[in-house]
Amino acid sequence: MGTGHAWRARERGRLAGWLLALAACLCMLPAAASDPTLRLGAGESSFPLAGAMHYWHDTSAEATPDQAFSRAHAGGFAPLPDGNPAFGFQTGAYWFHLPVENLQRDEPLWILVQEYALSDKLDVYLRHPDGHVEHTAGGDHVPFADRFIRYRHPNFRLDLPAGERMELLVRVQSESSMQVPLALYTPKAFAELLRDAQFSNGLYYGIVLALLCYNLVLWLMLRDASYFWYLLHTGAFGLVLFTLNGYGFEYLWPTSAWLADASIPLSICLALIGMQLFARSFLDLRTRWPLGDKVCLGVVAFFAMLGVAATWLPYSIATPIASRAVLLGVAWIIIATVVMLRRGYQPARLFLLAWSLFLSGTAAFTLLAFGVLPQNFWTQNGVQIGSALELLLLSLALGRRYASLREENIRIVQETNETLERGLIDRTRELRTTMAKLGEANVKLQEYSRRDPLTGAYNRRHFREAFAQMLAARKGSGRQIALLLLDLDFFKRINDSHGHPAGDSCLVEAARRIEEVAAQRGGLVARFGGEEFVVALACRDAQDALQVAEAIRLRIQQDPVRHEALAIRLSVSIGIHTVSSERGDSAEEIIRIADEALYRAKGDGRNCVRHSLTTA
Ligand code: GH3
Ligand code: MG
Ligand code: MG
Repeated sequence: MGTGHAWRARERGRLAGWLLALAACLCMLPAAASDPTLRLGAGESSFPLAGAMHYWHDTSAEATPDQAFSRAHAGGFAPLPDGNPAFGFQTGAYWFHLPVENLQRDEPLWILVQEYALSDKLDVYLRHPDGHVEHTAGGDHVPFADRFIRYRHPNFRLDLPAGERMELLVRVQSESSMQVPLALYTPKAFAELLRDAQFSNGLYYGIVLALLCYNLVLWLMLRDASYFWYLLHTGAFGLVLFTLNGYGFEYLWPTSAWLADASIPLSICLALIGMQLFARSFLDLRTRWPLGDKVCLGVVAFFAMLGVAATWLPYSIATPIASRAVLLGVAWIIIATVVMLRRGYQPARLFLLAWSLFLSGTAAFTLLAFGVLPQNFWTQNGVQIGSALELLLLSLALGRRYASLREENIRIVQETNETLERGLIDRTRELRTTMAKLGEANVKLQEYSRRDPLTGAYNRRHFREAFAQMLAARKGSGRQIALLLLDLDFFKRINDSHGHPAGDSCLVEAARRIEEVAAQRGGLVARFGGEEFVVALACRDAQDALQVAEAIRLRIQQDPVRHEALAIRLSVSIGIHTVSSERGDSAEEIIRIADEALYRAKGDGRNCVRHSLTTA
């Protein structure tokens, strides 16, 4: 029992000791946690300060550094919300407090860098353990040449003797977005940071410059307005980023605080104008979507006015409006592009992709400026990455568009050629048909001009030609040619007693009968005039010709001619002259002699045949 008690007491004592130790530890813990001193330990060469420093928003911007130090010591400073050093657009001043102790004996010199280029006024106070305070001013309201290192971001030299606890107090007042990504670097680490930043920025501006030159050449050669607006957009946009990154203040206006502020909204407006005019010309809104074209011009007018206003509006008003307008402008371009895409305009596809990338990058950056998104690689470089891809894709889209316009042109030229060719073939065919018809008509006309309209027999004109040819052709054939001259007897009487139409019927019927007989001998028949006809044919001799004439005479008187209810008897007198084809008598002479024979036939009582050789 005794030993048990002793053991228990011993155990109790030990437990109490443990508990005491634990309590002591617990008591000490908050003390350790509440010490905010940043210790620059061995091996580390860069320290982002956002997580370690405390801040106070001095809304009236009237506090002195001493007041700020006292407030910090009294616990009136708070840790950064979520360790995020971006507060959006703010008025008043922001104070940041951080005790620092350098533990690295061989690194007494440190560089404090404000990794955001646009802050107007920065005041850095370094308080030594003995209480004396060193002050350095920076920001873009102080000439660029005053910077410790001539670098795009404001930077300050800090001498931190090893082992001494110093207090760092930074005051920031700015019309630009309140972003305070402070960091400490050893000179070596800073040189390396410089090198990396120089490389990535060089790469970006290299791309922008290359695209500018490339498209400038294309514009000079092609004179397509799209390229010009692309140049304006790219140039102005490059200027925006150049300024945002602090290069504008470094290289372009190192002494002008006014331009350091106004250049941002001004270049943003210029870039937005270029962007709208580029989209308008690329999408061919004027002809393809007139309503969208008007909206585009309205947006351009708005940005032009905003640009003018930005020259006198305070930066803190102009820049947030311009920054928001970027999203608005790009959103409108995306709407217009989608509309054009839905209307089947193919070049809009790459265009949409380009702007979507740009929009995502810009949105990330803008949301960072308003303090909505945290600061990281993607949000900080969103604009650069998005815009580099956008500018590249737009350049590609321009090329695609050029190619598709050229294809369309070639297609149109081809179609026109085909239509022209088809037209030409059609016209030629029509012309041929017309020519053929004309030829036929001509043949008919010629035929008509050789025929007597009443009887259809050849007329005197044709007879003369054909008879002359017949005489020429028969020359040397050893055969004879007979010319029969026929005259209907007492024809006047027929007209007089039965009327002219009846006379016409008789003429038609007489012609038909003469042709009927003459055709058996291949004779040429013509109406010589009035009620006279002529027949020319080849014959063996005068006797042969007489037989043909006799056959005609009989055929004429054979049946009466029927005209309506009438039956009209006809007779004919015929004079013949036959010539040997060798003799070469003229047609006129032959006709004259045949006419004499006809005259004799008439004199001999009509209805008979007389030959020029016979006197009976
Ligand atoms: P002959 O026996 O002496 O020849 O007497 P004829 O009456 O036949 O001779 P004439 O020369 O005196 O008269 C010819 C007539 O033929 C006169 C004219 O009216 C008629 N004639 C001429 N051409 C046409 C015609 O185309 N149609 C009609 N119906 N009659 C015609
Ligand atoms: Mg007569
Ligand atoms: Mg007669």
